[in-house]
Amino acid sequence: MQFRSTKSKFPLVPYKDAVLNCLPDDGGLYVPDQTADIRELLFSMNEKTTFNDMLSALAPSILEGGISPAEASKIAASAYNYEPELVNLDENYSILKLYNGPTGIFKDYGIAFLSAILEEFFKGREQSMIVSAARADTAVSMAHAFNGRKGISLVLLYPSGQIRGLDPSSFVQNGGNIIPIQVKGTFDDCQRLVVETIKDREFSARYNVTSANTINPGRLLPQVFYYLYAFIQIKNKYNKDLFFSVPCGNFGNLIAGLYAWKFGMPVNGFIAAMNINNAFGDYIRGNKFRPKPLITTKSPSLDVSFPLNYERLASFYEEAPAIMRNIVYPASINDDLTMQIIEQIYKNYGIHVDSNTAVAFAAAQEISSEYKLSGHTHTVVLATGHPAREASLAGDAVGKSIKVPESIQALQKRCDPVAIIQPQLDAVESAIASCF
Ligand SMILES: *Cc1c(COP(=O)(O)O)cnc(C)c1O
Repeated sequence: MQFRSTKSKFPLVPYKDAVLNCLPDDGGLYVPDQTADIRELLFSMNEKTTFNDMLSALAPSILEGGISPAEASKIAASAYNYEPELVNLDENYSILKLYNGPTGIFKDYGIAFLSAILEEFFKGREQSMIVSAARADTAVSMAHAFNGRKGISLVLLYPSGQIRGLDPSSFVQNGGNIIPIQVKGTFDDCQRLVVETIKDREFSARYNVTSANTINPGRLLPQVFYYLYAFIQIKNKYNKDLFFSVPCGNFGNLIAGLYAWKFGMPVNGFIAAMNINNAFGDYIRGNKFRPKPLITTKSPSLDVSFPLNYERLASFYEEAPAIMRNIVYPASINDDLTMQIIEQIYKNYGIHVDSNTAVAFAAAQEISSEYKLSGHTHTVVLATGHPAREASLAGDAVGKSIKVPESIQALQKRCDPVAIIQPQLDAVESAIASCF
């Protein structure tokens, strides 16, 4: 598959180049250009197909470009030691549990796959490096995925005081390959420093630097797999229209769903579920995008005022605005309803869900009644976070405490950085250099 920048139709670059040099020179973001057609393969699969068999069958078409079909299959089949789980609630709703990975969030899927692919792409190089802005659990997910990968170091740039959940035995001074650095500044400073480091072509060439943040299309693309898995699990079960409801923050998850649809997954709609940080919904309805000030809610993973994937979504809309308006349905859910839904799902179906999943479920109900879909649609709600990550919230909603697994407890443990630096490019570069 070839990629192009959101800012221009040319040049087209192969998958491998887009993953390794993950920022186009023109300041845009990479998006797939030619798309894989996987319809025939999809129809040969069904509910008996395992996640791993599906991955090795589909990976060669989706990852094509700089990697042989056999390698693509091999990497795909070895990328995960966990898998998504589709739980059927009733005739109208299923939940796709995407929180079975090491950090209890769906982002493990994109990150783990990217780390497996990069190990392959970096083979034969002496030293390669991932530099990423680090936020809470996403950083832990990266540390898990890259820990021990041959020839790759992972630099995590944290805002002050936020390093937690890492395993110190994986740090560079203890013989590992993880380098957590504390930046005296904000998360935005860290993100800016990542871009500056990658754009310092001399430094990035010396260490073979790329990023594992959302800007890297290599993280987004593997997220299509869990949509396809849900589809093959369900396609023979209901003779109904199929919808996916996706809790949206930076909109990477939704975009992956749209790619799955573009590659040939027959689906009737996606619900873009937001909390009251909903400025992007106006854009989806056809208005100009006007970011609003950020409001803190009970579903903090969705508290985003300017989605990082804005450009990628906009490029879909520029290509075919009318089609997009018929496939993406925005909805915005407040905190009270979110809490009610957590309780309702527990009462009706006996399962705990987190706040993000509740937002997606409520949004699905709202769209269903607005468009009178009930009876002839089945909606798969993406469960993006483990409910035990928000144990006290879930407990408040259902009126009793919920069990927190040890792996989730460990995410809260504080750690010391390898270095503490000023928010400047030269400080980042010398902190990195001093580790080798
Ligand atoms: C990141 C995150 C989201 C939002 O996903 P995007 O791809 O940024 O839209 C939803 N739920 C959880 C638990 C998350 O961590």
